Amino acid sequence: MYLHGTSKINNKGHLEIGGVDATALVSEYGTPLYVFDEALVRQRCREFVSAFQASGLKYQVAYASKAFMVMAMCRIVEEEGMSLDVVSDGELYTALQAGFPAERIHFHGNNKTPEEIEMAIDARIGCFVVDNFDELQLLNAIAGEKRQKVNILLRITPGVEAHTHEYISTGQTDSKFGFDLGNGSAFRAIKEASEQAHLQLLGVHSHIGSQIFEVEGFRMAAEKVAAFAVEVRKELSVIFPVINLGGGFGIRYMEGDTPLPVAVYVKAITDAIKENFGANDYPLPEIWVEPGRSIVGDAGTTLYTIGTTKDIPGVRKYIAVNGGMTDNPRPALYESEYEAMLANRATEQPEEVVSIAGKCCESGDMLIWDIQLPKVHVGDVLAVSCTGAYNYAMASNYNRIRRPAVVFVKDGQSDLVVKRETYNDIVGNDVIPERMKQVSKSVSS
Ligand SMILES: *Cc1c(COP(=O)(O)O)cnc(C)c1O
Repeated sequence: MYLHGTSKINNKGHLEIGGVDATALVSEYGTPLYVFDEALVRQRCREFVSAFQASGLKYQVAYASKAFMVMAMCRIVEEEGMSLDVVSDGELYTALQAGFPAERIHFHGNNKTPEEIEMAIDARIGCFVVDNFDELQLLNAIAGEKRQKVNILLRITPGVEAHTHEYISTGQTDSKFGFDLGNGSAFRAIKEASEQAHLQLLGVHSHIGSQIFEVEGFRMAAEKVAAFAVEVRKELSVIFPVINLGGGFGIRYMEGDTPLPVAVYVKAITDAIKENFGANDYPLPEIWVEPGRSIVGDAGTTLYTIGTTKDIPGVRKYIAVNGGMTDNPRPALYESEYEAMLANRATEQPEEVVSIAGKCCESGDMLIWDIQLPKVHVGDVLAVSCTGAYNYAMASNYNRIRRPAVVFVKDGQSDLVVKRETYNDIVGNDVIPERMKQVSKSVSS
């Protein structure tokens, strides 16, 4: 397993993250446990911010909170001077509860409800990223009722396909997201938006996909957006002060993954903007980006306790852990791959190839196929790396399994940021209708 950030093997032969022995974390908090290397999260934040500072352009780096959203994470994002993307009332509520400055919140989503729009306008968030014509009308109407003018970007689909897994591409024409650039609906949307009394059009947004390993896609998107901005200026005399080029910056999950350094992605984007807008005498816009995975992905590690083994001679050896698709649905959803190691026997040589199964009632509940490990024993601690993004965020209570705790580790200290769910959390929202309540029955004989 590749050791990310502050992860290392200590002199006891144990995995250590943020200066804390993984076996000590297991004793203190139990398993499964999500562990975040806080220094690495902050390092990633700073890589984005300093790359933009070096560009000389105005910018906002907005953390796409859907990757991992808890109140303590909002504190880090605020402290690092970044903005925050939310896509639901629940994410917005979390940010506001954490005291995140509303003017740095951007609201995304292809079907924002009237209630969500009201909540966000009342909180005076910084910007709505409008996805479709219905939302344009709805947002203008609600803003009008509240006598406010709200900032908007329009999400456009630039027709750029990121080279990544099919399920997580969103920039192509056949997408549920955004106004299509190719068929003229983006142009109509700009016209309509600029005519609404209660909307302040800042510019356009494009997000071309996820886990992207090259800069070409971002360059092409910047080029298309610039050409569109020039056309809009010519036809409608509307200037975009802001261009948002989304997220999707790749990270290293597996040995063969080759993401670029953050600074390389950012430089490609800012250079492409300078080139394409500069060539047309267009006032250089402020650039926004929205990294999610690349902020938290490689900073997360999940610790499990190993339980049962099923050995099918000549076929496969299954090793089961005390979690699975409930804490990490990505292998089942996207065939995502992960690396792992025995955290309590980190220096031992691999001896056999095994597959790591979860404990859910689902054959597809597999975390890793065919990984080399030392001979495992019941009670060993399995560490799966790179689980910081879209793991806790996508966790479920399938099989009524309680969601794990989350801890941040840094400089030898661990802090709980999400408690492990209790049995009461599991039944807390259940209601037994009066007519089904148990009555003491008198049994006649
Ligand atoms: C998911 C998403 C992001 C973040 O994507 P990552 O791959 O996690 O960086 C950014 N912007 C939008 C609009 C998204 O939907």
